Amino acid sequence: MIRYATAAEVEAALGRAMTCAEATWFQYSATMPDYWLWWHTALVFLVFYTLTPLPLALLEHLAPAVALKYKLQPRVRLSPAALFRCYRDSARLVLIVMSPCLIVFYPIVKVMGIIRTGLPLPSIWEIAPQLVVYHFVEDYLSYWIHRLLHTKWAYNSIHHVHHEFRAPAGFAASHSHWAEVLILAIPTFVGPAVVPCHVTTHLLWFSVRVMEAAETHCGYDFPFSPAKLIPFYGGAEYHDYHHYVGGHGQSNFSSIFTYCDFIYRTNKV
Ligand SMILES: [Zn+2]
Ligand SMILES: [Zn+2]
Repeated sequence: MIRYATAAEVEAALGRAMTCAEATWFQYSATMPDYWLWWHTALVFLVFYTLTPLPLALLEHLAPAVALKYKLQPRVRLSPAALFRCYRDSARLVLIVMSPCLIVFYPIVKVMGIIRTGLPLPSIWEIAPQLVVYHFVEDYLSYWIHRLLHTKWAYNSIHHVHHEFRAPAGFAASHSHWAEVLILAIPTFVGPAVVPCHVTTHLLWFSVRVMEAAETHCGYDFPFSPAKLIPFYGGAEYHDYHHYVGGHGQSNFSSIFTYCDFIYRTNKV
């Protein structure tokens, strides 16, 4: 919640006029409690998890001939009903697990000052390095968690659910055991805990992660994908191989980049 009642008070405190983005944020968030702004994380998950895989799912259904030449495992086709079931069950599970966690951890977030909600909004020069740090923290921690999930007990008890789809689709990105949803949320939240940010940066970071996860699980390798321009980025082909090999696989554990697999000699493809 912003502690000023009017735009004029905010501008007096800032010593300048609000930018367009700041005026929009002020109008949207001025009377909202901070815990509700923090809970937007769940809302962001739902919106991006619903919308990101949708164009490819529609393309595959409406124009399969166009999509097929880029499909990594062209012989595997998931029916629209199977895709919808996967989406519905995954989205419901993540929301059921995430919502109480966001509420439980909110007091810690508040006391430790991990997230701020007021004005001014962060500049691009603040956001960009934060997102870089969050990516590397996420990538390193999730690499080791994913490796642990491939030990015999953890795989048979937890991670086998995620590997149900040997040819994944975007909607299968969060198809996981509830314990995995919890465990793999840790690397996503550690970055902002280490380097505190504005809640809008946190929501941006979360939306980027949901889109990246959908992209790496999409099952298609498009040569014109902008992700191919990012050095050491794994992408769909890289993670598709991990799913194709299945539970016995001990390679391509990274969730974003490939450097951990390269350093620890677990990279293939
Ligand atoms: Zn795995
Ligand atoms: Zn996966």
